[in-house]
Amino acid sequence: MSLTGPYDPDNIFAKIIRGEMPAVKVYEDDRVLAFMDVFPQAEGHLLVISKASQARNLLEAEPEVLEDLALATQRLARAATRALQCDGITISQFNGTAAGQTVFHLHFHVIPRWADRPLAGHASGKMEDPVVLTGLADRIAAAL
Ligand code: 5GP
Repeated sequence: MSLTGPYDPDNIFAKIIRGEMPAVKVYEDDRVLAFMDVFPQAEGHLLVISKASQARNLLEAEPEVLEDLALATQRLARAATRALQCDGITISQFNGTAAGQTVFHLHFHVIPRWADRPLAGHASGKMEDPVVLTGLADRIAAAL
């Protein structure tokens, strides 16, 4: 899929927002949702999405949506750092297939990093046990 084109209302994140697909949630309000990535690149890898926007990528995002997502991403990154005592944190965001985007609903990755742990590949890791993800989500949520 290219950078341009229609929003698919049946993409996986749209289904998670509508409650049609399960997700291990970390934070939710009326505009933003943060949940654990099921194929984590590192322990605590989570995703931050807008519930209000149909932007598929950063280029399409409305200013107020970017503001919501930036603030939520910062808040989640701070909480993950406090909760998991990581050495660093990567924020990533992909636009278009050529750039590595695989789900076409705008999202930011929050990926805790440790000096002695390699990063798993993007969208290519093993699916994590929901029980493990729930434990991590609870710890991060408690640090919000
Ligand atoms: P992208 O490649 O679009 O930047 O990121 C999409 C992310 O969504 C990937 O990191 C991938 O692991 C994650 N992902 C794909 N399918 C699901 C799913 O069904 N549930 C959750 N929680 N994450 C998913």
